[in-house]
Amino acid sequence: MTDRVRVRMFSPYVTNRAAWNAYRTLTQVHEDGRLWIGEGPRVKEFEEKLQARFGFPYCVALSSGTAALRLALAICGVGPGDEVITVAQTCTATNMPILSQFATPVFADIRYETGNLDSQDIEHRITERTRAIMCVHWAGLPCDMDEIRAVADAYGLPVIQDGAHALGATYKGIPIALTSDFFMTSFQAIKQLTCGDGGLLSVRTQQDYDEARRRRWFGIDRANRVQRLDGYAFWDQAEVGFKMHMNDISASIGLGNLPIIDVLLAQRREIAARYRSALEHVPGVTLFASPDDRVSANWLFTMHVERRDDFCRMMAAKGVEVSVVHIRNDLHTVFGPRRQVLPNTDRYEETNISIPLHNHLREEDVEYVIECIKGGW
Ligand SMILES: *Cc1c(COP(=O)(O)O)cnc(C)c1O
Repeated sequence: MTDRVRVRMFSPYVTNRAAWNAYRTLTQVHEDGRLWIGEGPRVKEFEEKLQARFGFPYCVALSSGTAALRLALAICGVGPGDEVITVAQTCTATNMPILSQFATPVFADIRYETGNLDSQDIEHRITERTRAIMCVHWAGLPCDMDEIRAVADAYGLPVIQDGAHALGATYKGIPIALTSDFFMTSFQAIKQLTCGDGGLLSVRTQQDYDEARRRRWFGIDRANRVQRLDGYAFWDQAEVGFKMHMNDISASIGLGNLPIIDVLLAQRREIAARYRSALEHVPGVTLFASPDDRVSANWLFTMHVERRDDFCRMMAAKGVEVSVVHIRNDLHTVFGPRRQVLPNTDRYEETNISIPLHNHLREEDVEYVIECIKGGW
């Protein structure tokens, strides 16, 4: 083994151009000649531009993706004693918000070929306490939304999409966010589009949008407050609100990245395509399914390998970072009974691995990763 890392899994950097754009955006002075740093015009501009580029019907920018999921759950009325059907194979950020709402995550199985929620494993888990179904578009590949929606619709349940990996993905020709009532994404440091930290919730009705805007800021409709003589801007806070809005500093970083998002997504797509064609016939490697009715946002390149420990040892010795990225959440005590009966998740857990994919990978890095894998383990 060597300590020297030659190719990293992720890149927590933005491009120089994005950094420069962010700086210019942030330091553009407003009419009164001052900088606004709280939630102000930049957040609005960021929301409008995201909406235009990604087809969100209505969207609110927030402090994180985790916050966006909590807000979605709150809008769906998820509360103490309720159940939310979700997957175990994900970031704990998917499922912690269910606990924050004092509800219980009910884990459904995934498909071995994609890591995505198995639509066949949902229905028998629905009880009278079920309030929502959550799905994660693993690595950026859209879930089987038609099949998931069919089950959800039959029981009148909302589908909340954890699209933290999936910004820019499409399903049957439409933006992924449009396939259900709630879509969240993340602008955390290493996601496709970053604000340093930030998130977004996309909703489909004016009513949900108004509620999202109020509840991201303590339940206050900031536009319709009544300014009183004593200096207090009054709005009756009639619902539980949070402190999870985005601010103009974060929005400026996001706006700095937005003009190059198509370049960033195209680079990821090209690297993933190169990996696919080069690794397709390598003994011991099984590539994930790549259905041609949907387009992945390629946040990760995950595949299955035989004898994974040997694979990881070999890659580490050659200075290439690889990772399982997230482990099944039912290994964490906080989520309740440990290692639940999820046969595909069991199989997936043994063989899945992600190899480097980010915007600072050079062509020679990609070729080196391929060469290492082709050399065997
Ligand atoms: C990154 C991530 C989140 C959370 O996003 P934050 O912005 O970091 O809160 C949620 N779910 C998944 C699958 C993620 O990868």
